Formats: sequence, structure tokens, C-alpha cells
Amino acid sequence: MDLEALNGLLRPKSIAVVGASNKEGKIGYTVVRNLLISQYRGTIYPINPTESVIQGLQAYPSVLDVPGTIDAAVITVPAKLVPAVTEECGKKGVKGLIIIASGFSEVGRHDLEQQVVDIAQRYGVRVLGPNIVGILSNSDLCNASFAPFLPLAGKAALVSQSGALLIAMDASTYTRRVGFDKMVSIGNMSDVDFADTVEWLDQDEATACISLYIEGLRNGRAFMHAALKAAKPIVALKAGVSAHGAAAAASHTGSLAGSGKIYDAAFQQGGVVRAADLNNLFDRTLALSLQPPMQGENMLIITNGGGVGVLATDAAERYGIPLRFAPDDVQTELKKHMPEFGSAKNPVDLTGMAGRDWYYASVRYAFAHPWVDGLAVLYCETAITDPLEIADGIKQALDDAGVKDKPVVVSFVGGEQSDAARKWLVENGVPAYDAPDVAVNALAALREYARSRQLASEVFQRYADVDEATARAIIANARAHHNHSLTEIESKKIFRAYGMPVALTEMAQTEDEAVQLAEQIGYPIVMKIMSHDILHKSDAGGVKVNIKNAEGVREAFRTIIANAKAYKPDAIIEGVAVQEMAPWGTEVIVGSVDDPTFGPSVMFGLGGIFVEILKDVTFRVAPVSADQSFKMLEEIKAGAILAGARGEAPRDRRALAEVLSRYSQMITDLSDEIAESDANPVLVYAEGQGAKVVDARIILKK
Ligand code: ADP
Ligand code: MG
Repeated sequence: MDLEALNGLLRPKSIAVVGASNKEGKIGYTVVRNLLISQYRGTIYPINPTESVIQGLQAYPSVLDVPGTIDAAVITVPAKLVPAVTEECGKKGVKGLIIIASGFSEVGRHDLEQQVVDIAQRYGVRVLGPNIVGILSNSDLCNASFAPFLPLAGKAALVSQSGALLIAMDASTYTRRVGFDKMVSIGNMSDVDFADTVEWLDQDEATACISLYIEGLRNGRAFMHAALKAAKPIVALKAGVSAHGAAAAASHTGSLAGSGKIYDAAFQQGGVVRAADLNNLFDRTLALSLQPPMQGENMLIITNGGGVGVLATDAAERYGIPLRFAPDDVQTELKKHMPEFGSAKNPVDLTGMAGRDWYYASVRYAFAHPWVDGLAVLYCETAITDPLEIADGIKQALDDAGVKDKPVVVSFVGGEQSDAARKWLVENGVPAYDAPDVAVNALAALREYARSRQLASEVFQRYADVDEATARAIIANARAHHNHSLTEIESKKIFRAYGMPVALTEMAQTEDEAVQLAEQIGYPIVMKIMSHDILHKSDAGGVKVNIKNAEGVREAFRTIIANAKAYKPDAIIEGVAVQEMAPWGTEVIVGSVDDPTFGPSVMFGLGGIFVEILKDVTFRVAPVSADQSFKMLEEIKAGAILAGARGEAPRDRRALAEVLSRYSQMITDLSDEIAESDANPVLVYAEGQGAKVVDARIILKK
């Protein structure tokens, strides 16, 4: 990262406003006014070709006439003038451009946008935008935007691809009481993108949590890389479900991928916490910016009401941190701070009689107890207690517990008093919400963050025993014959070169040859049509299984050829594959796509209706370690079937995970060649007995 230039852009010590104006209503007027109102302490240079004074400040005809240095130039002139202004800024040595002007790629003018970026790059100038609102920073008292005011001060930073949404979120920071230090509008991302801003915000002292509103990433891998490297929590709201490539996809995997699932996977792999919607983005940002991650699974709920306790318990299950009963010593101690009819299990119900003292004693004890990994303190307003007093008791208890490495969230349900108590708690660093499920969801975000950091730390170890050269030779041979979809035999050779267990398969051109091969391999055998023109062999009547003798082989050979000719008269038939008949096993599918945003990605699912109807599949951006692959097997809804449901013997998931991992290496190594591929099905056997690829397909890039 170009730290120096990005510092100039995002924490400028001097700002030129190109297109600065005295006319109210113009953006060039608003930006200057906002800089003045926000009490920006750096130097402001209004640039205007005719006026010598703008809003009381000395103005200059061009940036080239400015006596001092300029860190950032906010560009508010019409799009067609921006290339010339960029040229001048380059000559002046401006570090970064904040191009508010619109009329670029968002309206199809990619050429104009590229022209601006080209000029800027020639001078080493970074470009934020175009088509943005600007940047806002509380710690710099800098509102270099046309958003009306700086956000409520706090520790989060927002990066938004949507300008309108940024303005709306800016205003709602006050009503929602979620504080931000910075807001950055990145618009068309012609140069500075999410990866750059994440990397920069990670080293920004005023930022504790990076909050993203994403419509589409430009370079998915760069983003994942930046996210993985970041030491601060990142929470992202991804809008717009990707339909990339779904229509054009020839395989199952392609059509299943077009549903945002690869974004889900990439975020998880990059350690990025997801937000489900805008409310959730605020709620999770609040917790992530104020509290440490939740390192273990044990959440304790302390409440004064059974109702909110049950709601919180449901939410805990829904958001992936199901409750466990507190251990005996915890229960015994907590029993001392509640009436006889209270409950010390989990949720801990102090009852409606609970006042400041009971809250104080139980929170203080529980927060310090090693069993507790995260605490949710719930309160329902009652006639006999004062919310502000309770809030004060909770805060005091947290401080006195002296624990800094575990998180707490609070929910106060009630009226104005509770609202005031929540406000006070947030101002004192405790994330407080108006509903128990929302508080639990926020705690779940802190748990997800810790979990995904653990996951993200697992590195992929390459398999050294692979034969990439053989794989590439097979591909080169197919290309030489102008074939883009490899036959099953070719595909299986490549799979085998990557160390995957493949059913023994040979090519026969004649009946006699087929019989000979069948006898070598041993009955029963399977026979299949081999043609670059037939992708789905069964559809063409091109698969015969369980052939037991020479007579069967001859008959199958003739039938398969005849069926294929009837199915597709102009198909060029390479021959008929003769292969070992693998014993019955659980059928699973392994697939890959070359995602336009994230590149080679793997898919896993169970075969048959699980994929066809239920679309029960999971994705990862490749490559994936065997351990990560194992998690994929557990992740699908039908995962229990592999684990050994209903008295069935568990399947060999270790072997299958290795197949997935090797497969992910194959599509990564050969990503310049492979567009899509799959192994459909892979048969998985009982534990210790491995897995076998019985059908394989590779489609090359055009
Ligand atoms: P398609 O091109 O139609 O997908 P496949 O090669 O997958 O053709 O064969 C269809 C089905 O036949 C598979 O789903 C599997 O159930 C079975 N099958 C194929 N090859 C073998 C084999 N070598 N051993 C056992 N079963 C096989
Ligand atoms: Mg198949």
C-alpha cells in the first residue's frame, strides 16, 4: 500500500476544492461550507477561475496558482473538465483526488474514467471515486463532502459504495447512537477500492472496527488478502446477489454459484463478519467497535425477566451460540443474589425484584468467572427499579471485575428511562440494545469474529506429489484438437495427476478392444460414450453399468454408439470407455467455477436431489486445506448423512476432505486453463475405505 499517498487522501493536512463556489446550492459551495463548519484545521484552498474570495477564503484560479502544498483535491467540476484538472493536480504534486463529480462509468463513460485514472497514475496521484459524496473524519474535524454534518463521534469507520446510503447512515448515527470516526465514500472505485481502504483503516489509530457497505468487489482476492491481514474486525453488508455467469454456466456448479454463496464463503475465509441488513450493520458495528472478540462458546445470560430470557435463548440458538447450563460453582454463587424462586442455570433469572445490588453482584462475579466467554445482561423495566441505576450497577460491576478480554452486551427493554440508560451505557463503552435478540445477535458477531479469525489462520499446504506437467500436456493435446470440453477419460487423467482416487478407465475403439479391456479390468464393468460433443452421457443413453460378461460388453458397445448417434447425429465419437465398476457408496458432487470476482472456487454437495432440488451445497474460494474441506462436509444440511445418521456407518470424511483439498489445488494451479469442472459423482465409502471419483469433467477456458 502507498501509505503516504493514502494518508494525503484520507487525512489531508491541506485541501483544495476545485469548483469552489459562492453560490448556495452548488456542490462546490457545500463542500467549502462543510469544511468551515466542521472546523477543519488544515488549509483550505478554494479553486475558482473567476472569483478571488470564496466564503471569506482567498481563492485561486487553478491548483497550480496555490502557494503551499496540497494533500487532497476535492473535485466538484463537471465530468468533462476532470481530465484537465487531474493533469494540473498531477503537476502540482497533489497526493490524492476526491472526485465527487459524476458522469463516468456509472453512466457508461468508462473511457472518461480510465482517462482520469491514467493521468493520475502517471503522476502517482491516488483517486477516490468518482461519483462519491466525499470523506468525513471526526478526529480531523474534516467534512470534505456534501453530507450535511460529521457523524456521531465513535470508533468505527464506514466505507460505502453507495453515496446516498452514506449520507443516510451519517444522519442515522445520531438516532441509532452508533459512533463513527470516519466515513469514506468510494463510488466507482476507479482506483482506491475496498482492499486499499481496509488496509489503510487497519493502521488508522482512530478506527477500531471497519464497517463496509459493498455492492460488488472489483478484485475479490485482493480484498480477501487485505481482510485477512487486518488486525481489526471487519463487518460487511453485501447488497445484490451475484448472478455472474449463472446464465452462461454449462455445469451444475456454475448455476449454483450464482447466488452470492461465493461471497459468503470468501467473507468467512477472509475473517469478515457478515451483516444481514442495514439495522444489523449498525448493531454489529456497535458491538465490534466497543468490545473484544468472544473467544469461547460459553455465553451467560443474566436477566430480571423470564420472557426476555427465553427470547435471548432462542436468539442464541438461531445465531450459532446455543446456551449451556452454567457449572455448579457458578450456580451456587449466583443463587446468593436472587430470591428463592430465581434461577441460576442459564439464563440466570434474578427475577423482577432485582435491583442495582443484585445486578452488580451477579455481573461482577459472572464476568470474572473463567467459564464465561461472553455475557449478555438483560433488563426489563419494572415499577420498582430505576433503569439508570441498573445501568450504573452493570457498568460498575464490569469495571470492578477487571476483565478486559471478553465481551458483554446489554439489552434494556422499556420506555424513556431505559432509552436514557442505553444511551449512557453506550457512551460508557457498553453496547446496549432495545431488544434481547438484537443484543444476542451482536454478541454472536463477536463470536463469529473470533471463530473466523481461527479459521482464517489455517493455511493451505500444497500437496507436493502432484504432476502438473502431465495435466498440462493433456490440456494442450485437447486444445490442439480444438476441444474445449475434455472427455471423462482426459479429465480423469488430470484428476489422477493430482492424486485423487479415480475409477480405472480405458478407451475402446472396437467391440473386441472393449472385451479385452473388460477382461483385464475384471467384471462387473461400466461402459460410457466418450465424445467431446456429449457432456451429459446418461441423457444420451451413453452409460451402461453392471456389465457382467463379454456378450454384455458387445451388446453395450453397440447400444451406446447407436444411442449417441440418435441423440446427436453430428457428434464426433472418440470411442467407448470401459471402466471398473466401483462398489456402491454415498454419491457426492465436487465442482468448481472460475468466479469473476474471486477466481477458482470449489463447491461441495451430496448427489441426487440434494443438489438438484434442495441446492444443498457449500462453496470456498480455492485452495482449501483438508481441515477446511472437512468443515465443508459438516456445513451442508445433509452433512449428518456423511457423519453416519440413523445407524448408518459414518462415511470416510477424511478421505473425501483430501479429495476436495487436492481438487482445489488442481483448479488453482490450472486456473489459467480451467473454466469449470466437476466430479459427479464421487462415491464415498465407510470410514477407512476411502472414496472414488467415477465421473469427471473439465471445461477449458475459451
Ligand atoms: P453422466 O455424464 O450422465 O453424469 P456418469 O459417468 O456420472 O454419467 O454416470 C451416471 C451414473 O452411473 C453415475 O451417477 C453413477 O451412479 C453411475 N456410475 C458411473 N460410473 C460408474 C462406475 N465406474 N462405477 C459405479 N457406478 C458408476
Ligand atoms: Mg456424472
